[in-house]
Amino acid sequence: MTHHADIVVVGGGPVGAAFALALHASGIAVTMLESRERKTVVADARPLALSHGSRLIFERLGIWDLLAPATAITRVHVSQRGSFGRVEMTAENEQVPALGYVIDYAHLSATLSQAITVRGLSVEYGANVTAVRAQQPAVECNERKLDAQLVVVADGGLIDGLAPQKSIDYHQTALTGFVQTDIPHRYTAYERFTSDGPLALLPSNGGYALVWTTRAERAEQLYESAPREFLVALQKEFGARAGTFTGVAQRACYPLMLRYATHIARPGVVVIGNAAQSLHPVAGQGFNLGLRDAWELARSICTTPVQELGSVAVANAQRARRRMDRYAGIAVTHGLVQLFSNDFFPLRVARGIGTTFTGCVPPLRDFFARRMIFGMRG
Ligand SMILES: Cc1cc2nc3c(=O)[nH]c(=O)nc-3n(C[C@H](O)[C@H](O)[C@H](O)COP(=O)(O)OP(=O)(O)OC[C@H]3O[C@@H](n4cnc5c(N)ncnc54)[C@H](O)[C@@H]3O)c2cc1C
Repeated sequence: MTHHADIVVVGGGPVGAAFALALHASGIAVTMLESRERKTVVADARPLALSHGSRLIFERLGIWDLLAPATAITRVHVSQRGSFGRVEMTAENEQVPALGYVIDYAHLSATLSQAITVRGLSVEYGANVTAVRAQQPAVECNERKLDAQLVVVADGGLIDGLAPQKSIDYHQTALTGFVQTDIPHRYTAYERFTSDGPLALLPSNGGYALVWTTRAERAEQLYESAPREFLVALQKEFGARAGTFTGVAQRACYPLMLRYATHIARPGVVVIGNAAQSLHPVAGQGFNLGLRDAWELARSICTTPVQELGSVAVANAQRARRRMDRYAGIAVTHGLVQLFSNDFFPLRVARGIGTTFTGCVPPLRDFFARRMIFGMRG
């Protein structure tokens, strides 16, 4: 038997779940399909820096208070190893309560799943989607067929051949973990560019969440090294700005590549979140961008008659609304990785001059800060 919904959401990760929650109370019949089993606890402890703009979206979804305790970032310090120049951004200068908030993926996923259950949204766990089509029936899942006016794909980019894609392998791995230092974090986040890749320390509870991007082989060695050896290597790479590193826990590795769909929407199918663009974690943009994909799509859908959800107009509107923000997010993160991941001396000096200039010219610094906080429409 074919099951019908107005909208089928493929993937119940943070972006798919936020999209489904945004349509709660819209009167549109939404079914979310998630391949994970209901009782599986998401063990992914990767830290996510949520922008102030994401906080505003979560507030509108009625989720923000449930995400506590997210640690506020009130100051961001950007520097490069082995050279001069730095940029400092503060919440005070940008006139926001905080520049961002640090939360981990597992906590965010659990909170959103719980909200979906409490609000009685239709969700199937253990539902592995194997095919998506623009024509009805729209989705094949566990040898069943579901039809819908619109399929919203938020599977993180795992279903092959869904949308034409471009990809670039960074040959870098992000090593994450929780580290402690001998001085309090004072709500400061650090982004330090090294020739191997950027290293971020994000204030999190009583310590820092670490995102250390480096060559794949080095990340593997660091992952396996004894805690003492790891902390010595981290201190050498980061320096003393955050104090002396005293402990490390929960190390994990994520291979990195840039992957993005060249067509995010066609009549009947829209792709959002990591399925639309999977970015390097430098500057913490991926989820924030994906959440804006979800929010913008939900807003346009709420004013569309149900029988027109799969129309050319909905697809065109999503492409137009998301074009600038997406391509800016892709260009900025990819550009930063290219610009900073090498040790060519003249470039190092030019970078120092560039960062010093940005740090010293408040309108330029504020321009970058507001794009980080609110996206390209900031
Ligand atoms: C180390 C690291 C640090 C990061 N830090 C930040 C940060 O600070 N700030 C930030 O904004 N972003 C950050 N990101 C990016 C962020 O993690 C992603 O952008 C975000 O997780 C994307 O969410 P999503 O829901 O689109 O995809 P996913 O999180 O990949 O979720 C996809 C969901 O779809 C399900 N699924 C997959 N295939 C199927 C199928 N066939 N059928 C049904 N369901 C399926 C999966 O089980 C999963 O639940 C970071 C990423 C990394 C790797």
